[in-house]
Order: sequence, then C-alpha cells, then structure tokens
Amino acid sequence: MLNKLSESIYYLSNQDDRERPALGLVCGEKHSLIIDAGNSTQHAKEFLLEIQNLNVPPVKYVVITHAHWDHFLGMNEFDASVIVNSQTNELMKEWQSFSYDDRSLQKYVSQDLMNVKCAEIIKDDIPNRNDFKLNSPNIIFEKTITIDLGNKVCLLEQVKSTHADDSTIVYVPDEKVIFLGDCAYGTTTNSLFHFKQALLLPMIEDIQKFDAKMSLLGHESIYDSDEMNLYWQELTAANQAVKSKSLEDAKENFVAEIKREPNDNELFFIQAFVNDQIINS
Ligand SMILES: [Zn+2]
Repeated sequence: MLNKLSESIYYLSNQDDRERPALGLVCGEKHSLIIDAGNSTQHAKEFLLEIQNLNVPPVKYVVITHAHWDHFLGMNEFDASVIVNSQTNELMKEWQSFSYDDRSLQKYVSQDLMNVKCAEIIKDDIPNRNDFKLNSPNIIFEKTITIDLGNKVCLLEQVKSTHADDSTIVYVPDEKVIFLGDCAYGTTTNSLFHFKQALLLPMIEDIQKFDAKMSLLGHESIYDSDEMNLYWQELTAANQAVKSKSLEDAKENFVAEIKREPNDNELFFIQAFVNDQIINS
C-alpha cells in the first residue's frame, strides 16, 4: 500500500530485510514523477501496481537520487524518462556494462564490484536475468533542474552529501516536502562506517535552503521538521566534538561543549566521525 503524504505526494515504505529503499511519487495535473526506481524489477513492478490503483496522471519521469544499486536497478520497468545528475550518470555506466547471469554476478562479488546482498537480491527479484541489461538514463543535468508536472513543480538539486558525492535531492515547494534519498546517512569505506565530516555543514546548509515541513529519507521514510531538526542537531553536536582520531577525546569534548553526556544517536555519530578521521589520516 502506498502512503499518502499530501494531496499530490505518495510513497512506498522502505523494506529493510529486502534492502528496499522508500520510493516516492509526485503527481501534477498532467504527469507524475517517481523518486528512485527500486532495487529490482520485482520492487519496481510492485510499486507500479500500487500506482495503477490510484487515479493519477501517467508516470513521465523517474529521478534516481544517487548511483547505489538499490535505488536504480528497477529502472527498466518504467516507461518514462530517467533523470540523473551527470556524476550519477558516470557512476551508473559500470552497471550498464554488467551482465546479470549467475556466473557474472559471482565474478563481480569476488572482485568486490558488488556486495553479496546485492547479488542475492538480483537473483531473487530480477527474473530472466540472462539477457538483462540496465538502460541508460535519458535526462542528464548539471547541478539543478526544474520539472513541471502540470501546475506542480519539482526542484532537483545535486548536493555533495555525507553518504555520496552524487546525491540528488527533490523538493516540492507547493507541499513543502523534500526527498533526501540517502543524503543524511554515512557510508562504508574499507569496512569502516563513517560520515564524511568535511561535507556535513555545507550539506545541511544546502538542504535547509529549502523550507521543508516533511523530509523523506531513503531507508526510514518520513521525518517532520522537528524530527529532522533534532537529527541535524545531534549530527552537528557530534561533528563538533570530533577533532582527532581519539574517541575518548571526542566524548570529553562533547561533554565540555554541550554540558551533558551524548545520547545513543550522538555516540553512534561520534564513532562515525572518528572513523572518518581515521580514514582521512
Ligand atoms: Zn545509498
């Protein structure tokens, strides 16, 4: 079932056990636009079936928020123009060159080009894989693009995020809703989970330019503005406390600056920023 977020915006909730991110749907008077294409043919088909049950204009556009497989492998299912920023376009080329039969998948996993979970999902949820080739995106933009769906505008902007350099966010000014993809998350490098510390503050500034009342996060669904502000506050406080590779120093800095012990979220973020210091040293 799709969740109705506002008069013209719906989303399909994330499903963590199947590595499925949340998928968005924005409807104008003439066209509809989808945010993220699903992690597989099956995921996309289920989303399309739900959309068919609504009386909404045909899907003309699919926006891919960044070049991580779980956000785009379903894109061939949509009879629509796929929109990406130029960096996402470059990163997706590797996946267009891939073959998806068992032997190829095994090879990519052994070469570290694909993780095991991804290969499993592809085997389960992309039928007739032997001939499967990922399509190319149709509309490639630099920095920003505005899409008019008929009396309903979507603003797309590329931001460098703590999760991926090629992140695209989608803002719908009429309803003050923003789709953040995986922007607000960290990432894993050499098995270490970290938030790219240098990008945190510019990213938050880029996102807060938009006057969003609701934020949709890729793997958690909806945050209202209070929840989102709290999330940014916790991240910012943790960021401020981390000045070196020392976890102990960071915890002490936190208490000195914020005048209380960090909570569980903040401890998680502190560790992730310390890991970033380790990765960059
Ligand atoms: Zn991602």
